[in-house]
Amino acid sequence: MSDLKVDVTNLQKSYGENHVLKGIDFKVKNNEVVVLIGPSGSGKSTLLRCLNRLEEPTSGSIVIDGQDISSKGTNIDKARENIGMVFQHFNLFNNLTVGENIMLAPVELGKLDKDEAKYVSENLLETVGLADKFDAMPNSLSGGQKQRVAIARALAMKPDIMLFDEPTSALDPEMVGDVLEVMKELAKDGMTMVVVTHEMGFAKEVADRVVFMADGHVLEEGSPKEIFDNPQNERTQSFLEKVI
Ligand code: ADP
Ligand code: MG
Repeated sequence: MSDLKVDVTNLQKSYGENHVLKGIDFKVKNNEVVVLIGPSGSGKSTLLRCLNRLEEPTSGSIVIDGQDISSKGTNIDKARENIGMVFQHFNLFNNLTVGENIMLAPVELGKLDKDEAKYVSENLLETVGLADKFDAMPNSLSGGQKQRVAIARALAMKPDIMLFDEPTSALDPEMVGDVLEVMKELAKDGMTMVVVTHEMGFAKEVADRVVFMADGHVLEEGSPKEIFDNPQNERTQSFLEKVI
């Protein structure tokens, strides 16, 4: 058994004429935190969404935990149960309480019965600092609180990898820290994570590896120190000058 959690080889994705991913090789080890950076439109979200087949790859292979998720025989619903995803815009169900949002998937998919799910949800809410919000409606929460609920909801399925697509980009600045703190704790606990973010402080502190994408290619990758202190590629250099 390899220690690769994610093994993407020569991934190509086009939307019609728009060739977005142009041969991506992307690997994530167990317990590794990879931060994916790059200019808007470079294909970061598309790559993330291909990993759980929210997008259908045009060609190439995506192996997660030794299982080729693009092969016909793969049960993608089963594979997705182990892949948590957190989006920029939370995507909570606004007609359900916070607790119901978190309990929904594990109960519907038969992973937990209702009592277990309630217990797990309460614990997760405590972990993300929202122990008193079980019965609250999402619309009564701030953006940062909503995002922490979204993280708890993803964790309720006990995923072994978490994908974050700009989880703090839609938040007011004062909300960003609490969400990053929850993500840091997750990383500390050994969660395998792929994080698309413009929070370079988070990348420096938490990432094991930083991957720079532009125009559908991975142009450079390395430790945070390598990428931030001594970027080799001209595109990486000019990107970092703009964002830091
Ligand atoms: P990033 O996340 O790095 O900003 P995206 O993966 O969102 O980049 O987008 C890369 C390119 O793919 C853009 O040109 C975008 O317009 C296009 N694209 C993304 N999603 C879709 C979609 N669902 N349908 C058509 N084109 C899309
Ligand atoms: Mg994006």
